[in-house]
Amino acid sequence: MTLTEDFHVHLYGVLSSEDIWTLGRDRYKNYADRLSWYEQEFEKATKKKISARLYWDDPNGLELLKSHYEMSSPGDFSIFQAKFNLLIALFPLVPSDCTVLRYVAQKDQRAGLTFAEYRTPFPRDLNFETIKSFCQCADDLNQEFSGAFTLRLAFSLARDPLLGLPQWEVLKKGISGFEKMVSGIDFCGSEIDAPPQLSKPLIELIKKERPSLAILMHVGEQYSHLSQDSALRLIYDAARLNCDRLGHATALGTPPQSQEGQEPVAVRTAHLKWLINEAPSLKDLGYVVHVNDIKKELTSLASQPPEKLIKVSLEFETLRPAITAYLKKQGSLLETCPTSNSLIGQISSLNELPFTYFSDHHLDFIVGRDDPGIFNITLEHELNIVKKITSIETLQTIAVNANRLSERYSRS
Ligand SMILES: [Zn+2]
Repeated sequence: MTLTEDFHVHLYGVLSSEDIWTLGRDRYKNYADRLSWYEQEFEKATKKKISARLYWDDPNGLELLKSHYEMSSPGDFSIFQAKFNLLIALFPLVPSDCTVLRYVAQKDQRAGLTFAEYRTPFPRDLNFETIKSFCQCADDLNQEFSGAFTLRLAFSLARDPLLGLPQWEVLKKGISGFEKMVSGIDFCGSEIDAPPQLSKPLIELIKKERPSLAILMHVGEQYSHLSQDSALRLIYDAARLNCDRLGHATALGTPPQSQEGQEPVAVRTAHLKWLINEAPSLKDLGYVVHVNDIKKELTSLASQPPEKLIKVSLEFETLRPAITAYLKKQGSLLETCPTSNSLIGQISSLNELPFTYFSDHHLDFIVGRDDPGIFNITLEHELNIVKKITSIETLQTIAVNANRLSERYSRS
């Protein structure tokens, strides 16, 4: 079985070190300020001082670029973001500049893909004319490919509605007339201080104004700032917001390292209140909430500073089956990206990669590359990892899910 459709891939993340080096050669001098921002952020995350212009000025520049850009060993999300920033610095969305989209789509088509939904960043200064020209470019490319390869865009909006709502207003105007080119709205970036509930007003507005757009939420991927029980709650909340697809959901699929977690008082308080509010639903899903015990804990937390870190004993083993049952009931579709999970999620064992759990518990999922250029991987590579431990039936379901999505978005 092969897979030729990718529904979890970030447009710029497709670019490899060689691609960046080739495309950057003619433009790096124009973006000195943006590159110095990249260098500063890189230093903050890695404690390494670097000079981006050496990528092109030094005879060993390509090797240097590779060593900074590619993620070959596990590291947390801030390390990944520091690498991704090179793409943000070098390739701002500029009206009528179709270079990256064309380059990436042609590269994927040559690699044998038949469909890709590219998650596209939404910089602060993006205006509707730029979006329009970007959509026009997508339309032109689709016509050039004449069915051999189809691409769709999913714009990544800010999770915080204070930023996301104005972005949505600009985006709506920009995609008008190009509705077919845009298949979804993505929420990615840092999950710290950005639980799915924060995006609720924005998601509800998008669903009301453009019901055909899929809501794609990266959730439960970064959870080192909270306990894994709280991360499970966020996955449940994302499903309850009727997100069409959940990205990674690592916290659901990967067991915690210990039975104890740590999180700020404010997060624990939110979790306990959630348990009380959801007690009837959770009971139906097989998880019993001990309301009196929780009320006692809430009382003791009330006098403590919200940011204080506290230890919590996890109920992961009993809570996880309930969350799993909920996702099944909702018909949630999960997106799994094995290499990304093993590197950013810092998961070394194949059996602990999230898809193993998804597969064992018959959750619906698809396989994507996430940022193949940074991880130096292909879709086939990702599928081969999944093949190592899943059944033929599961592989068939993955293919059917991907096929169903490509048919839906080819039409609409
Ligand atoms: Zn992603």
